[in-house]
Amino acid sequence: MAKAPRDGIFGGSSGFVGSCGIRWIKFRANAALFWPSWAMAACCWSCSNFLEMSIIWFSSINFVLNYSMSPDRVKREIGNVFEVIKDRTTDDEIYIVCPVPGCGDRTGNRSINVKTLRSHCWRCHDPQPHHVAALFKLKGLSWTDDGSAGFDEFGQTLRGDMKQAVTPVQNIELPEGFSPLAKNRKSCYWRFCKDMAERKHLGIEDLEEAGAGFTRTGNWEPFCIFPVYEGVRCVYYQGRTYSDEGFETTKKFPSKKEVPYGPSYWVYNLDALADPNISLVIVVESILNTLSIRRKLRELDIQHIVPVCIFTHRLSRSQVAKFQRYRHIKEFCILYDSDSTGLAVETALRLSSVMPVSVAKMPHGKNADGTARLTNDANDDVDAALYAVTERERPHSVDREIMRLGTDLPGQRGAGAHL
Ligand SMILES: [Zn+2]
Repeated sequence: MAKAPRDGIFGGSSGFVGSCGIRWIKFRANAALFWPSWAMAACCWSCSNFLEMSIIWFSSINFVLNYSMSPDRVKREIGNVFEVIKDRTTDDEIYIVCPVPGCGDRTGNRSINVKTLRSHCWRCHDPQPHHVAALFKLKGLSWTDDGSAGFDEFGQTLRGDMKQAVTPVQNIELPEGFSPLAKNRKSCYWRFCKDMAERKHLGIEDLEEAGAGFTRTGNWEPFCIFPVYEGVRCVYYQGRTYSDEGFETTKKFPSKKEVPYGPSYWVYNLDALADPNISLVIVVESILNTLSIRRKLRELDIQHIVPVCIFTHRLSRSQVAKFQRYRHIKEFCILYDSDSTGLAVETALRLSSVMPVSVAKMPHGKNADGTARLTNDANDDVDAALYAVTERERPHSVDREIMRLGTDLPGQRGAGAHL
């Protein structure tokens, strides 16, 4: 299935020159790691810390592979793509929310027989799709009981719209004078961090565990610094002001000069996904949201859910490529701040053909005077966030219509450019 790496992409005069000034680059096939996508990495023999870069072609998709048509498998495959109504589903018939445009079903009027794969909707007018394959086609997917043919056909669908994801590797230095909180408990900065954490409904121990720290000098001095690790490397960091007032924004991102590859390449808490017991990943916008949710899940002793942060509300290709490495994860639930739910739905719709994804709609908050506060996130109200996760939904085809009509949703166009 894997193709041989193409020689010369980085080689020759177009190759990377490392900080060591050497252009020698070697290739190695990484097919096993990313199978069935194929990937390769190039790294300079002389300065291996910086020049490693892999390119993954989205030439395949996880769940179209390996069909063996046991009823359970059929149910799972359908559940990956459509919204299954569990109450109505029996051993023989699966009920889903009908995906046919114009049907308007929201309660699950379409049945699919797990043995014959015939399908019928009580709301749709005839003629209507009568086979599960036609339903998959509506979503731009192919259904087949022959694994290899399914892969090929799907590969072709995607090849027309071939996308590339660059997942660079970088190992960066934290700001000068970085001191971890856990080792500086007598510092006044530790106090500042403790107050900030408590204002965000966290504890200083959450920040210490996250490896957060501070510096006494330079332009990072006003910020609590959160390192981002992927594997053994520190790949990024982000700052958060001690005070909520007096700054235009409470977050600080390093400059391109400080850190060459920006936030869209990284996932905070990514390594937690390697645990085979994890089945649901909550995708949030900020590091502090991640810490809040993690804290609450521990309190509740829930071990199969893990939160990650993507720093903005734009999910990039390289972040998606990273998620796809973890094949045991059954679902990625997007939980953005309450003012970005439209964007979350749109993101989920775009991703629904490449990974199992759902949306949790964070409710608006309440100000002290009882008026509605448009911005509300997992730090403000972690209980509401987890409740939203329990009420999460797969993106509906009807949402696509809403998205199409509501083109003036804030940030929507920008999101498109990132997917
Ligand atoms: Zn219908």
